[in-house]
Amino acid sequence: MSTSIIGFPRIGENRELKRATEKYWKKEIDQDELLKISDELKEKNWQIQADANLSLISAGDFSFFDNVLDATTLLNITPKRYSDLGLNQLDEYFAQARGYQDDNHSVKALPMKKWYNTNYHYIVPEIDDDTEIKLVETRFFDDVKKATAKHSNVKASLIGPFTIIKLSRYVGNKSAQDFIEPIVEAYKDIFSRLNEIDIKWLQIDEPSLVFDLTAEDKKLFDDLYTRILAIPHDFKINLQTYFGDVRDIYEDLNKLPFDGLGLDFLEGKQTLDLIKKYGFDDNKVLFAGVVNGKNIWRNEYKKTIELLKSLPVKNIVISTSCSLLHVPYTVENETELNPELKQHLAFAYQKLDELHDLDESFFNGNTELLDANEALFKNVNHPKDPAVTKRIASLTDADYTRLPKRAERETIQKDEFHLPDLPTTTIGSFPQTKDVRKNRSLYKHHEIDKNQYDQFNKDKIKRIIEWQEEAGFDVLVHGEYERNDMVEYFGENLEGFAFTKKAWVQSYGTRAVKPPIIWGDVSRRNPITVAASTYAQSLTDKPVKGMLTGPVTIFNWSFPREDIPAKESVTQIALAIQDEVLDLEKHGIKIIQIDEAALREKLPLRKSDWYKEYLDWAIPAFKLVHSKVQPTTQIHTHMCYSEFNDIIKAIDNMDADVISFEASRSDLSIIDKLKANNFETEVGPGVYDIHSPRVPSQSEIYNVISDILAKLHESKVWINPDCGLKTRGESESFASLKNFIAAVQQKRGEL
Ligand code: GLN
Ligand code: ZN
Repeated sequence: MSTSIIGFPRIGENRELKRATEKYWKKEIDQDELLKISDELKEKNWQIQADANLSLISAGDFSFFDNVLDATTLLNITPKRYSDLGLNQLDEYFAQARGYQDDNHSVKALPMKKWYNTNYHYIVPEIDDDTEIKLVETRFFDDVKKATAKHSNVKASLIGPFTIIKLSRYVGNKSAQDFIEPIVEAYKDIFSRLNEIDIKWLQIDEPSLVFDLTAEDKKLFDDLYTRILAIPHDFKINLQTYFGDVRDIYEDLNKLPFDGLGLDFLEGKQTLDLIKKYGFDDNKVLFAGVVNGKNIWRNEYKKTIELLKSLPVKNIVISTSCSLLHVPYTVENETELNPELKQHLAFAYQKLDELHDLDESFFNGNTELLDANEALFKNVNHPKDPAVTKRIASLTDADYTRLPKRAERETIQKDEFHLPDLPTTTIGSFPQTKDVRKNRSLYKHHEIDKNQYDQFNKDKIKRIIEWQEEAGFDVLVHGEYERNDMVEYFGENLEGFAFTKKAWVQSYGTRAVKPPIIWGDVSRRNPITVAASTYAQSLTDKPVKGMLTGPVTIFNWSFPREDIPAKESVTQIALAIQDEVLDLEKHGIKIIQIDEAALREKLPLRKSDWYKEYLDWAIPAFKLVHSKVQPTTQIHTHMCYSEFNDIIKAIDNMDADVISFEASRSDLSIIDKLKANNFETEVGPGVYDIHSPRVPSQSEIYNVISDILAKLHESKVWINPDCGLKTRGESESFASLKNFIAAVQQKRGEL
């Protein structure tokens, strides 16, 4: 046995699963049809792995929405309000993921959070005192069984119980400890079911082991696994970790009777040292994560082979650093990509080939493959721009400091804008309806010219400006109709970026993104948003927010270069966006929102790395973007998800004037933290969840606003939804926003 992967993408090379699932939601196809399409996708995945000669075929990693939700469904961790709906298993599953509304019911979706340091989102499990953990017979076993019918070397995979209970939200009085017993009982049933199926390995994913672990965490893990591993099983067990190293628990893992340990050698900075220091059990198999599961550059075989050779380990399986879920399907689909760049890329299919090549080189001594790969690496040619290098070299502290101080700006801006209490705004995008996408597609396919394309978007802008005025918004937006994606749109106007046509990566549920590739030095080619923003502003006396994507988000949502430090790449992007900010200001745009939707996402998983590895360059990059604007220009930022409880000071130090963020789908707990930290930036905690099609009532929004005002002073609070509306339909958005404005007006009446 020599090669394996942790998991594979499942949305389909052409996003077949997305299309089918959304059709199912709209009742355009029935469940049988959806299951048929998903079965085909799974079988294709298994076959591709078999064709690439992997020693193990991964099964059970498929998901209709999210693997954490799959695992909680398997363990019966389904909150009662969803099981009470009386739906079939799949619909109950989707109800938790997306919320559910019919004539008699209205239940919100479960919260969603970013999966470790990725842009994938998982559904946060909710455990109450009466949660009865036990095995529920689900699709998981069918999938694995189907795989074994066709392939003899199947590895099933599950998200492990430690990770599930660490990621869960406990809404009652009980805590993780209280659930060990029922989990072990459930695993007895899971193992006895798996014993009936002919799998070779069970991979249990425990990525939560790469966080900083307390003594209590370790005890929890040990308690769980000493008992789980004692359950009779006819297959081997691989404890799989990724996104970092397991420095706090490596010695225990090495001692526990796992048959395999999956360790990440790329993000796991200490993995190699741990093995060298503590050794590696000869009776175990090391699943060595050496092929990057997150980035898309080719593997440098020589380096990888050297690493593998240096390992004092008897049994090695060459594997990926994490699931290939986080990379697109295949480079082959990118027919329009610059061949110079293309030869350096490896997506999921190519990574399977890389595993095969590494296998041949490492185990069978094939040197031809090594030489060819080495030649490729001698030939990397990232486009360089000396002007960019020079501009960065000349930066001083003053470039990172906005004056006067924020408190003073706040007074100046209150005078400038005369906004009412609780000013209302949206996060930027309005629904990208069919006609908007059609217009873009016609233009892309040269069926309409630039004028026609622009005119259509102008009409849309005009209509939405009128709608917002009519509805009673205070700070308007132009709707972002011209953007396919908040990163791609900017990247297309910057030097140094490359774009793909089909390189989709799942973000959450049926949502996928197509991250650009940062390939060379970055600079702004031409003004990007100025025309749309100034046109929108010309239609109204109310302020229109200019809408930009910030440098950290552009960087985090792209596939980054690996030949220069992240800091340098981000600074290049920051300067390009600074040019755009100053251009907007020059053209009369007085409020500019610089979205840093993804700032929190790449925060290192270990606390000790937060500043030195990330925030120390990420926060300055944001400051560089807006430091040169006038005191009267109001800078907003927006962050998706409010998981920044622990880095509140750093967020305040971004020195924006206003920040909006998601709050409705987590809970409002962050507000206490803002208060406790004397947060200075004005805040717009999202008052309703736009990730769900559900329409919140006026009173529901009113209550959220009241909760916020119970904790924060009204002079500091903005009211907005919690993210952009582009993925929503117009009817639900307009209905929600009308309730929203009515709720704000009701509240203002009481102030
Ligand atoms: N301005 C963007 C929008 O409204 C922000 C999107 C985001 O935060 N993901 O679409
Ligand atoms: Zn957002």
